[in-house]
Amino acid sequence: MTDITTDVVAELKSWLADNWDPDLTVRAWWTRLGESGWAAPTWPVEWYGKGLSRPEGVLVQRTIRDFGALGAPGGLGLLLAGPTIITNGTDEQKQRYLRDIVTGAKGWCQLFSEPGAGSDLAGLGTRAERDGDEWVINGQKVWTSGGQVADLGMLLARTDPDVPKHQGISYFAFEMLQPGVDVRPLREMTGRALFNEVFLTDARVSADACIGGINNGWTVANTTLMFERSGLGAGGGGESGSAATPGTVRGDLDRRARDFLDRRTAGEGGAPAGAAGGALQMIIELARRHERIDDRVVRQDLARLHTLTEIGRYTTLRLKGGADIPGAGNLAKLSMSEILRLQRDLGLRILGPLGTLHAYTQDGRDALEAATDDPLAGIMTEMALFSPAPSIYGGTDQVQRNIIGERVLGLPKEPNNDRVTAYRDLPKNG
Ligand SMILES: Cc1cc2nc3c(=O)[nH]c(=O)nc-3n(C[C@H](O)[C@H](O)[C@H](O)COP(=O)(O)OP(=O)(O)OC[C@H]3O[C@@H](n4cnc5c(N)ncnc54)[C@H](O)[C@@H]3O)c2cc1C
Repeated sequence: MTDITTDVVAELKSWLADNWDPDLTVRAWWTRLGESGWAAPTWPVEWYGKGLSRPEGVLVQRTIRDFGALGAPGGLGLLLAGPTIITNGTDEQKQRYLRDIVTGAKGWCQLFSEPGAGSDLAGLGTRAERDGDEWVINGQKVWTSGGQVADLGMLLARTDPDVPKHQGISYFAFEMLQPGVDVRPLREMTGRALFNEVFLTDARVSADACIGGINNGWTVANTTLMFERSGLGAGGGGESGSAATPGTVRGDLDRRARDFLDRRTAGEGGAPAGAAGGALQMIIELARRHERIDDRVVRQDLARLHTLTEIGRYTTLRLKGGADIPGAGNLAKLSMSEILRLQRDLGLRILGPLGTLHAYTQDGRDALEAATDDPLAGIMTEMALFSPAPSIYGGTDQVQRNIIGERVLGLPKEPNNDRVTAYRDLPKNG
C-alpha cells in the first residue's frame, strides 16, 4: 500500500470518529457521508467525490464497514447512473442528479433490456415522441432490477426510427413515479423477485432530462455498460452496498442507521449474501463442517477458486499501476462468471443431498437452518441458484467474448447491414 493509501484510511477513520452515529436516521447519515465525498470516493472532487482510484475506493468501503458504520447507498445510482452523468451530462444535470445519488435520496434502476432486445440492445423498440418540452414514452422493458423501489430510471428509447439502429436512440433520466409506469415483479428461481417488467404507456420525460444529446444514446449507454462490466467483474469491489435501500419508495431513509447494521441483503438487483469476496472463506468453512476439507478433489477446486480470485486481484493492482489492459472490464466479468460457477459446483458437491434443499421465505430459511444445523447450507444453495445470473446480466458471456474478439483481437464482425439500414426497415426480434 502506498503512503497516499495510508493517508486516505487515516483521514477516513478520523472523519468517521467525528461523524458516525448509529442513532442518526439513514437519511441524515447518508447526507453526511455523501456531502463529505466518502460515499463516492472515486468520483471527481468537484462532484461529491475524492478523486481516488478504484482499489482505493474499495478500501474506503471496507474501512467504513470495519469501523462498524453503515455503508454508502448501494444500487445502480452510485454504480451506473452517477458515473454516466459525470461523463456525459451537462453541469446543470450533474447539479440536478448527483447529490441525490450520493446521499441516497433517490434510487435508480436501468431501463435498457426489452423482450426483443437484450444482447442486441441497439434493436430496442420503446418509442419516444416529442411533445413540446417533453417526450412521450411507449414500450416495454424487462429484467429491470430494483424497478419496484426506484425513483428514477436510466431509460433508452428510440427517438428516430428512420436512421440505422445505433443512431436513433436517446438516453433519459426518467421519473418512475408517474402515471403510465406499471412495474410488475418477476420471481426468479431463488424465490426472490429482484427484477421486474416495466410497461410504459404515454409516460413523460422532460426534454432537459436527455443525457448526452438526442440520438446520442448509444454512446451514453456504452458508458453505463462499461461501468457495469468493470463494477461487476472479478476484482471489481464486491464490498459495495448497504443493507438500507436508497430512494423514497421503500422508506428506509427515515429509519435509524443502526437498524441496518450487520445485515447484508439479497436486495433488489444484488447477489445473495456471501456471493462476494467472502465466498471462498465460506466454502472452506462449509468443507470443514461437512468433513470434506481433506478430500483431495475438494482441495484442488478450493485452490482453483483461490487462484482465480487472486488473478482478479492482481489484475486490479496492475490496472492501478497504470497498465493498459485492452478488454480488462470484459475479462473481469467473464472471470466473475467462472468463479461463481466454480463456487456453485464445489459448494453443492460438499453439501451433497443437503444441496437440494432450499427455502423461499424467511420462516422457511429459519426452519431449514434448524433442521440442518448449518446456517451456511441455505446460503450456499441460494448462491448456487443465483449463479447463472452474472453470466447473463451486463452482457452475456458470449457477448463479452464477441467484444473481445472484435474490439481487442481485431477479428472480423459478423456480416450484417444494420449499420446502414434504417431501424424501421430491419427485421425485428420476437
Ligand atoms: C439478474 C439479472 C439482472 C438484470 N438486470 C437488468 C436491469 O436492471 N436492467 C436491464 O435493462 N436489464 C437487466 N438484465 C437483462 C440482461 O442485460 C439481459 O438478460 C442480457 O443482456 C441478455 O439479453 P436476453 O435475456 O434478451 O438474451 P438474448 O439476447 O436473447 O440471448 C439469448 C442467448 O443467445 C446468446 N446470444 C445472443 N446474441 C449473441 C451473439 N451475437 N453471439 C453469440 N451469442 C449470442 C446469448 O449469449 C444468450 O445465451 C438483467 C438480467 C439478469 C439475469
